[in-house]
Amino acid sequence: MCDSRITTPFVPDPNKELEQKLRKLTTTSVVTMNSNDTNVSDFKETGSEKELDREQDNKICKEEQIKCALQENYKGILQGLGEDTTRQGLLKTPERAAKAMMFFTKGYRENIKDALNDAIFDEDHDDMVIVKDIEMFSLCEHHLVPFIGKVSIGYLPNKRVLGLSKLARIVEIYSRRLQVQERLTKQIAVAITEAIQPSGVGVVIEATHMCMVMRGVQKLNSKTVTSTMLGVFREDPKTREEFLTLTCSTR
Ligand SMILES: [Zn+2]
Repeated sequence: MCDSRITTPFVPDPNKELEQKLRKLTTTSVVTMNSNDTNVSDFKETGSEKELDREQDNKICKEEQIKCALQENYKGILQGLGEDTTRQGLLKTPERAAKAMMFFTKGYRENIKDALNDAIFDEDHDDMVIVKDIEMFSLCEHHLVPFIGKVSIGYLPNKRVLGLSKLARIVEIYSRRLQVQERLTKQIAVAITEAIQPSGVGVVIEATHMCMVMRGVQKLNSKTVTSTMLGVFREDPKTREEFLTLTCSTR
């Protein structure tokens, strides 16, 4: 089971064997994971692996710790609801829910620098680049329920461009965290600015918040639109207008 440093109090997992192996993994300098074992529980020392492998193993170990901590807490939530966590339908629910939450928040364990590493190009292109309607799934940090929508990004290059798929990648990294839409919008714009120092950036997000649809005011069709304009997108009304016309044309 997991040596959790993520949450307290920590409720022990019955799998003592995995706990011992995970402990070993955090303290042993060189380890590899046996790929034949899908339980992620069979770690084997080799004493001859590279630093990269060690980093990878540490990452796996840390993820396993987070998952176990989440799992125990989900069990507590079910019990808090008065549910019987030993009934068949719920037996694996804490683990499934933990894995799902890990996916919804995987952006915490990724960073922009690594993601954009090999995708910044010198290019003498100075016309607006727009990628619109990038699908976005995030979790509202106030209620831990989803908000779902589309992101449109435009920038005016200044000698450098970004691989087009990387704009979606930036959206993915920041949206897969607990968020508020306003901050998400700004973080995307700032990340692009820092990566390629363009003349300007515009980001518009249009999203539906489940905390408004499923609870509270229960407004099924309401959408929240946020925008961040930096550089010439903020200073020059014509540039901003061009961006907004192009991104909003099919809405
Ligand atoms: Zn909310």
